[in-house]
Amino acid sequence: MATQSLIYRVAVPLPLWQLFDYQALPDTPPLVPGCRVQVRFGARRLMGLVAEVTTHSAVPEARLQPILGAPDGPQPMLSVELLDLLRWCAAYYKHPPGEVLCHALPPALRRADQHLPEPPFQYRLSPSGQERLAQGPGRAPAQYRLLEALGEGALSPAALRQQATASAAQLRTVEQQGWLRREALGAGKPVGLAGPSLTAEQQAALTAMNASGPGFACHLLDGITGSGKTEVYLRLVEQVLQRGQQVLILVPEIGLTPQLLRRFQQRFGLEPVVSHSAMASRARLTAWAAALRGEAQLFIGTRSALFLPLQNPGLLIVDEAHDASFKQQDGFRYGAADVAVKRAQALQVPVVLGTATPTLEMLHNADQKRYAHHRLRQRATGAPEPAWRVVDLRQQRLEAGLSPPALTAIADTLARDEQVLVFLNRRGYAPVLLCHECGWHGECHHCDANMTWHRQSGRLQCHHCGAQAQAPRFCPVCRADALSSAGEGTEQLEQFLQQRFPDTPLHRVDRDRVRRKGELEAVVDAVRTGDPCMLVGTQMLAKGHHFPKVTLVVVVSLDQALYSADYRALERLGQLLVQVAGRAGRERRPGTVLMQTHHPEHAALQCLLKEGFEAFARGLLEERQLAQLPPYAYQAVLRAEGQQRADLQRFLDEALACWPGPAGSGFGPFPAMMERRGGLLRWQLLLQSEQRAALQAWLDRWLTQVQALASSRKVRWDLDLDPQEF
Ligand code: ADP
Ligand code: ZN
Ligand code: ZN
Repeated sequence: MATQSLIYRVAVPLPLWQLFDYQALPDTPPLVPGCRVQVRFGARRLMGLVAEVTTHSAVPEARLQPILGAPDGPQPMLSVELLDLLRWCAAYYKHPPGEVLCHALPPALRRADQHLPEPPFQYRLSPSGQERLAQGPGRAPAQYRLLEALGEGALSPAALRQQATASAAQLRTVEQQGWLRREALGAGKPVGLAGPSLTAEQQAALTAMNASGPGFACHLLDGITGSGKTEVYLRLVEQVLQRGQQVLILVPEIGLTPQLLRRFQQRFGLEPVVSHSAMASRARLTAWAAALRGEAQLFIGTRSALFLPLQNPGLLIVDEAHDASFKQQDGFRYGAADVAVKRAQALQVPVVLGTATPTLEMLHNADQKRYAHHRLRQRATGAPEPAWRVVDLRQQRLEAGLSPPALTAIADTLARDEQVLVFLNRRGYAPVLLCHECGWHGECHHCDANMTWHRQSGRLQCHHCGAQAQAPRFCPVCRADALSSAGEGTEQLEQFLQQRFPDTPLHRVDRDRVRRKGELEAVVDAVRTGDPCMLVGTQMLAKGHHFPKVTLVVVVSLDQALYSADYRALERLGQLLVQVAGRAGRERRPGTVLMQTHHPEHAALQCLLKEGFEAFARGLLEERQLAQLPPYAYQAVLRAEGQQRADLQRFLDEALACWPGPAGSGFGPFPAMMERRGGLLRWQLLLQSEQRAALQAWLDRWLTQVQALASSRKVRWDLDLDPQEF
């Protein structure tokens, strides 16, 4: 009997819905699911992933091509657990499985000539190093500093040199003495330095979480800023590390700060392995290697780190779980917080969603007992919560958008040698440049949007597509010398405040000013000295950072969101306000948040300020229930992009005509909130149901029909499940 040859069902990184069968190479070790393979696909060579191994194929054997090679041999790059999760994602988000599987790999592994490197390492003191440390500095202070820095645990080479202010040569000398040991980064028993004794609320949350045992449970840790959520994470992480299991902590794009890393490093004496999409491709690859190898235990990363191939995970944590950056906004549009819950469920381990401002979906899940709800309502340090002050902007004379009461409050705060934070979520000098003679204003040629005037660089810039132009000196239409700006951005605030308070240093924090790594850290360090200063910035300032000496926060304007057509706008406004307010008065001195608005009587706003975020969110939940909107319905959006409106409308009309759901479950076509962006028109259909399963079933049935439409080939389209933007 001839031995049956193996057939590999391969996922290729192309927008195709099926897997493709290839034959094993003769006389090679058998591959398993998760192995990388090179295959010929038409005229191309592609790097794919083995998704299944079988002995039968619907393709006649004579037409089956062999794989071209397997760069890692039989070693899989994805675990079976991850493969299952990713295939679930492909099915749920209706995204081609090949793209989903290949998306999970770090970019370097999508190329055949790249291999898994050695995982990153850390130094620890060897026994002889311990002895040498005990002998004191002697005549080699730099060497001693290196040993001393390792006295409380392990450090990566970079962190060690930084902490000991030592050169590479000095480090080499110490290593050659045999005083150091190399081991996988993030590995080893945590030293478990004692933290503060927990507050009653923290203890109650921790006890309740532990009582639910080691299996799957989703914990919503709903705690105001400064209530000590991170301290609760640290306790949980410590337990898991002690058991020798791995922990994955997801943070928002801008939440991954050295401060946070230092906090974990200091507590456990081991450095977390970091993985995020802005990291150099090599570094991401080593983080991947560390997870696969299974020695490193502590991982922190942004959205994409969710798919790290952990070998023995015991706990997942999503910090600031409400953050919009957890949802991928193009291609494979997954929601990382939701998929983290799914992954924890598959792994049968607990997951913690921590936030001061839970999304309405999270609150609803807690109400439905799908999540356990733990509330922290007191600041852990005992500092009082900031007091809100609303300033009615109507009939006030504004300077750079600031009202007289705001300016007085800033002056008073600075006079007390305290710090001020001024928040405005708009960079540049002004959101529009216009002509007083003829009414011309600078619009983007590619978007339905005005160009923002960046006065310092003398340019007009579109914040939606990135288009740029020289800012004109005279009106390009009537040639009048009558150009002026309307509205304000952070650049204008900076200029104005610096002139008004010339003796106080001012730090502007936005994407124009703070670009390179370390620039934000430099500002944070300067502010943390506690010297009086002004901070002006966008939401870059609103998250993750602790500014203990800031006692006044001024919110210049958030009114746009109060009457937005997007039903999530109010929820987001509340989240942003609470996050910004949370920067103030985190130490002994009480903070004030001064909020300027043209609508001081707005009911939801009043509720937020008087009763707090949960009451505010519950009000919004009632409205959503009445309107049958998420979380009381499940939604998907079919998005189409193209040059011609008629093409988009025809495609969407035809798609809607074959929508299998009942009346009232499919709507459209309607244009995106910004119809034209980056030169493309964008239209969409909204599909929804009160039942997740029903929506899924309709979508599955529908998609094959939509793909078959001739009109679908004239446009670019994709499906967005649980959409966050319209
Ligand atoms: P959150 O993550 O909820 O914003 P943190 O965990 O960062 O809060 O805690 C806020 C501040 O309170 C930090 O400076 C932290 O060191 C301190 N802190 C946390 N828990 C305690 C506690 N139990 N006792 C005293 N201080 C605490
Ligand atoms: Zn003009
Ligand atoms: Zn544009």
